[in-house]
Amino acid sequence: MDAAKLEHFKKLLLSELRRHARQVSDEQGNAIGIASDEAKESADLALRDVISELSLKLGERDSQMIADIDQALLRMKEGTYGLCVKCNKPIDERRLEAVPTARYDAACQEAIENDDRVARPSL
Ligand SMILES: [Zn+2]
Repeated sequence: MDAAKLEHFKKLLLSELRRHARQVSDEQGNAIGIASDEAKESADLALRDVISELSLKLGERDSQMIADIDQALLRMKEGTYGLCVKCNKPIDERRLEAVPTARYDAACQEAIENDDRVARPSL
């Protein structure tokens, strides 16, 4: 994935993060804005602080989403963003557009969901 596309998806992730942060306080939302506007190493650290603080303040469902965003940002840093964590194939960009935190390509996601249904037939 080229740099411009990565930047695009990073913006999507950060705006999602900001949306969750605003549920806690405008201050947190602004902190993310400031952290993500600065392209420095210290900004990444500041962002991580905000993320860990948010996970403490938000409910279980929201903190799971924050964790997913955090993981996606980490994969960007490692250069594995947009690749399926299971089979390493590129994830369809339209899929990432809809779900920028996606970890699996469509095939693996489907396999996992099928496994889930087999493991928990009562659901
Ligand atoms: Zn896969």
